[in-house]
Amino acid sequence: MTEDCPCGTGQAYSACCGPLHDGQAAATAEQLMRSRYSAYALGRTDYVFRTWHPRTRPDEVENDTTLTWERLEVLRSQGGGADDLVGVVEFRARYRTSVGAGAMHETSRFERRAGRWVYVDGDVEPTS
Ligand SMILES: [Zn+2]
Repeated sequence: MTEDCPCGTGQAYSACCGPLHDGQAAATAEQLMRSRYSAYALGRTDYVFRTWHPRTRPDEVENDTTLTWERLEVLRSQGGGADDLVGVVEFRARYRTSVGAGAMHETSRFERRAGRWVYVDGDVEPTS
């Protein structure tokens, strides 16, 4: 299967976010962020839950089927590398619902926990 990865790297899903969804650790906070976006896009809410910090995650991550994720743009990435313990990724994600198109602009915080990047929380930015 050579389907393009939903996260927009231009790589095949099987060479991009696929292995992460199957259990491989993300190397950077940005990679984790991309794989979480892909998981939302593909309805893999189990992965979204698993990569959410236990301190901040909801009891359950719901799969919102009224919404189709269309495109991800990573606007800024700070820290979150191999030698970091925290990272920040700012992104814009575009989606479509039955009533039209929308976008979500967020600055997300990530933490490395037991060697694995997890999502902590984020600030929603005004959409432009
Ligand atoms: Zn990907």
